[in-house]
Amino acid sequence: MHELGICRSLIDVALAAMAERGTSGPAKSLQVEIGRFTAVVPDSLRFYFDVLSRGTLLEGAELEIESIPLRTRCRSCAQEAEPELPSLLCLTCDGVVEVVAGRELRLVSIDVPEEAA
Ligand SMILES: [Zn+2]
Repeated sequence: MHELGICRSLIDVALAAMAERGTSGPAKSLQVEIGRFTAVVPDSLRFYFDVLSRGTLLEGAELEIESIPLRTRCRSCAQEAEPELPSLLCLTCDGVVEVVAGRELRLVSIDVPEEAA
């Protein structure tokens, strides 16, 4: 269950970004990109988000999660693949592959409703 720690840092980053912007109103939604290779379970992350965001400007905000497929590239033949399961061997030549996408875990944007003048 590493979603708890991830969620905590996600909330820290979001709150810091909102403070920097001088936002005082609550956030409506958060857009997050999560690579498949991180093995983060979106439902689990949402659950922790609901719990940890209570009492902050993020309370009640919707967590919009975009899943980034795992993408690997072979070090020998440069063949790229999008394996369903993390595989560290090239399907073409059995060479060792490196992960080129799927490790992402980042906050893309925060939607805050326009504050009433
Ligand atoms: Zn290969």
